[in-house]
Amino acid sequence: MSISVGSLAVSRVIEYDGPLFIPDELLPDLTSERLAAEAGWMTPDFYDPAQKRLVSCVQSYALRTRHHAILVDTCVGNGKTGRRNPLWNGGDWPYLDNLAAAGFRPETIDFVILTHLHVDHVGWNTRLVDGRWVPTFANAKYLIVKREFEYLRHLAATTAQYKQIYEDSIRPILDAGQVVFVENDHEIDDSVKLAPSPGHTPGHVSVHVRSKGTEAVIAGDVLHHPFQRLHPDWNSRACEDGEQARKTRRRLYEASADRDVLVLAGHFAPCRIASTREGFDFRYV
Ligand SMILES: [Zn+2]
Repeated sequence: MSISVGSLAVSRVIEYDGPLFIPDELLPDLTSERLAAEAGWMTPDFYDPAQKRLVSCVQSYALRTRHHAILVDTCVGNGKTGRRNPLWNGGDWPYLDNLAAAGFRPETIDFVILTHLHVDHVGWNTRLVDGRWVPTFANAKYLIVKREFEYLRHLAATTAQYKQIYEDSIRPILDAGQVVFVENDHEIDDSVKLAPSPGHTPGHVSVHVRSKGTEAVIAGDVLHHPFQRLHPDWNSRACEDGEQARKTRRRLYEASADRDVLVLAGHFAPCRIASTREGFDFRYV
């Protein structure tokens, strides 16, 4: 599915879409009572009562500007091991077929932008070829915010999962000389630039796309689930700096609400944000 942003088309490239997160493991404030009270609009699009899991997707966004083919975030990846979430070990998803269906072959991608370096955003940086992890996007520069890389190095030194992620999904692109470290306000070209959106992780960035007066914000994990339209102050369990994550989310809502701004989140469908008497509504496109 592609979404128009002015004269550009942004495509969702979906790796997985279905029951995924245990509700209070993703959103600690989402108690079973609160979930029951909101079951009407949540079921079945955003909550699967049979599996008792929030319905979420894992996805990238791909776009072609006048100058470049760009992929934002790279999902979980196939054949990875050592992930804490059992669903993310040994993945066998037709992600590259989905990328091809969106009109992109891996070797044609010029830039891979990583909003942050969590497990579900870096996986397709690499793929396994003859027993070795090699860059999936052979001709791409992978743009990584310096601060985020330092944070990953810290995680990799202290947790087994992130040591593994560093080895299988980051080190191979570094060794291939394909990583470019950038500041969090880096401009890629005249229609795509980064903007800091810290909180979920210290170096988290959003990708702002502008064309002909229309704007989209590829927001990564600034927000995780449609439930957060009702509760902008609810963080995910994975948000590192709670206070900063709340501020960044509020800023996104306030800057986007009631304007022609598409919000493209990491784990659910593209939407526009509207303000309501109670707070905010997400209008899916
Ligand atoms: Zn994520």
